[in-house]
Amino acid sequence: MSTQSLSYAAMTKLPRRLLLGPGPSNSHPDVLAAMAESQIGHLDPAFLDCVDALQLRLRRLFGTGNPMTIPLSATGSGGMETCFQNLVEPGDDVLVGVAGVFGERMCEVAARQGAHVARVDAEWGTVLDDDAMLEAIARVQPSLVAFVHAETSTGARQPVEAIARAARDAGALVVLDCVTSLGGLPVTLDTWGIDAAYSGTQKCLSCPPGLSPASFGARALERVARRKTPVPSWYFDLNLLGGYFGERRVYHHTAPIAAIVGLAEALRRIEDEGIDARVARHQRAALRLVAGLERLGFEPVVAAQDRLPMLTSVRVPERVAREGEAVVRRRLLDRHDIEVGGGLGNFAGSVWRIGLMGENARDEVVDRLLAALDTEVGETS
Ligand code: PLP
Repeated sequence: MSTQSLSYAAMTKLPRRLLLGPGPSNSHPDVLAAMAESQIGHLDPAFLDCVDALQLRLRRLFGTGNPMTIPLSATGSGGMETCFQNLVEPGDDVLVGVAGVFGERMCEVAARQGAHVARVDAEWGTVLDDDAMLEAIARVQPSLVAFVHAETSTGARQPVEAIARAARDAGALVVLDCVTSLGGLPVTLDTWGIDAAYSGTQKCLSCPPGLSPASFGARALERVARRKTPVPSWYFDLNLLGGYFGERRVYHHTAPIAAIVGLAEALRRIEDEGIDARVARHQRAALRLVAGLERLGFEPVVAAQDRLPMLTSVRVPERVAREGEAVVRRRLLDRHDIEVGGGLGNFAGSVWRIGLMGENARDEVVDRLLAALDTEVGETS
């Protein structure tokens, strides 16, 4: 009997998919190649140079001068946890704007820190009402206000400035979820007055999942320093993480080297393209997608002025619903190697979420999807 074992890839023969769901999206081959070449220690000076360059680029992409702008070793939810674990203590009043699943998740995470959570809800597919948020800020006098910039569960784009200004004027910290927006929409933390923000690598940054780029301003770090109770998480304690991601570069946990090298390459590519050009590319691709989907009978869920460019949610046509939307998505996967997302929560069974994120926000990608859809669900198919 042969003792030779097959490689993992040979055993499973993972198919190559075009990832057009709500994330992950496809990574650029240069990002994957950089990751494969990263046989280096996490305290090696050459690697630390790479971390320096990454932090500099991340600050530019987040639109901030915050020194504490770092790639957290976690997915986007870990970024969310880090914000609430560090910035909230038991008994604090926290106000969360909820316009979908990820605002809902913020409420859950804040409540687990012992916060008193107040919430303002928006109907799914719409954005938070400024006046409702302002009224709640005045009434609750929260120590922290949190909301989502790009709500991936609905495809709605939340305007940031008015809510952030009111929260700061009332003395609250402002936390913004930029998981789906960073790298596809302009993000300007300092201009908006955001104290803490987090993202994820697997959406518009076009890396595999695994890191949560995050940024913390002076007011947020002061709040951490003034805590009466220790940060409940050792792993996500910003005081400790600052040792590695600050000047001293002392060991806290082993940095996920390959993921960091991949992100450094992705950020380099983003700067090569230019963020304005990248944002415009996302916008163009989204318009082309929506026009093509409407021709096929899909109906956008979100009003035009509130739509995200990188995530389009559409109600499926009657003939798709009749057949079963999940059955059709499965055919796209099996016959065309294309993944699109189903609806979450209130939208399950009736809505598709189609992502054109990062590298995938391109005309040729849109056309490949539309051609496959035409074959599977077009009037004449
Ligand atoms: N926030 C938003 C807006 C998201 O879209 C997601 C993931 O889709 C998350 C948070 C959670 O990120 P992750 O799944 O990487 O933990």
